[in-house]
Amino acid sequence: MSNPSLVVECPHCGLMTARFVDHCRNCGYKLWPSSVMASAAFKAWQAIDPEPRSEVSRFDTDYPVHVDDVVDYEARAHKLGIHISPPSNWPFTICFGLFFLSLAAIPFSSDDSRMFPTESADSEVHH
Ligand SMILES: [Zn+2]
Repeated sequence: MSNPSLVVECPHCGLMTARFVDHCRNCGYKLWPSSVMASAAFKAWQAIDPEPRSEVSRFDTDYPVHVDDVVDYEARAHKLGIHISPPSNWPFTICFGLFFLSLAAIPFSSDDSRMFPTESADSEVHH
C-alpha cells in the first residue's frame, strides 16, 4: 500500500501492467480475484496519500504530468514587433451590425429612381 507505483510486473507474462486492474493488459492474466476487490484496493491505496494519488485513475500506468503550455501571444508579438489589435468584448454584436452596414452597400434597383426608362422611350420624345 505504501508503494507509490501504478504498475506491477505480471507474474504470467513478465510485462508491466496497470496495478489496480483485475486483468493483465498484455496477456489477460487475472491479477485480482475480482474487479470489485481491485477497485477497493485502489481506493485504499489512494486514501493513504491522497494529494498525488487522487489525480490518477486505476487504469493509469503513470502519474499525470502537468505541463505549463500556456503561450502569452501578446508578449511574444510585442517582442517580435508585431502589433496585435486589442481583443473585442462584443465580436458577435459587431458582426451583426456590420451585416446590416454591408446591406446598405448593395445597389438595389428601384423603379422610382430609374432615370432613363427604356420601355416608354418612344412615347416621350417631345424635347
Ligand atoms: Zn501478463
